[in-house]
Amino acid sequence: MELLKNKIKQDGIAVNEHILKVDSFINHQIDPVLMQEMGKDIAEHFKNRNVTKVATIESSGIAPALMTAVALKVPMIILKKQPSKILNQDLYQTVVTSYTKETNYELTLSKKYIGAEDHVLIVDDFLANGEAATAALRLLRMSHATIAGLAVLIEKSFQPGHEKLISQGIEVYALAQITEMSENHIRFKD
Ligand code: 5GP
Repeated sequence: MELLKNKIKQDGIAVNEHILKVDSFINHQIDPVLMQEMGKDIAEHFKNRNVTKVATIESSGIAPALMTAVALKVPMIILKKQPSKILNQDLYQTVVTSYTKETNYELTLSKKYIGAEDHVLIVDDFLANGEAATAALRLLRMSHATIAGLAVLIEKSFQPGHEKLISQGIEVYALAQITEMSENHIRFKD
């Protein structure tokens, strides 16, 4: 998506060869018009797939997921992060390793909001190592829901997430794919 690529070129900050900061328009301050356009683009791509729900991982996936859900006119569910590992019968629960924070956390979803009849599109801001998306898949599959695909705003294609998801039979749709990054240069896949 040219709009997003241009914004990344203009306002994205490659902290190093691995981490891209997009705090001024995605992660901290949000550009609502860009976010809405990105949601529409994702929805357009998945429009004939009978998606019943959009799912995301709190918190930075919420904005793009909500915009996608608005465009698809389906509910959005938030997979919630919890520090404790107290077992709860009303929840599906799984453990995730955080890429940016280098810690483990528990991801949870209430059994009330998901079921075998659901066909779910997962939306997140970044795809890096694919740990968050894989955990989301694991959680959603506990309910026997089926998966329409994974949509991300930014895929860092030089990290293993894309391959990890594809090898599990999941379609990955990325609005911008970064193939290489350094402090003064960001290269996109054409
Ligand atoms: P993964 O599980 O694919 O390694 O990482 C996914 C999560 O880590 C994303 O939801 C995102 O919140 C965060 N993340 C990974 N790489 C980056 C990055 O380069 N910049 C930012 N801002 N977040 C990232």
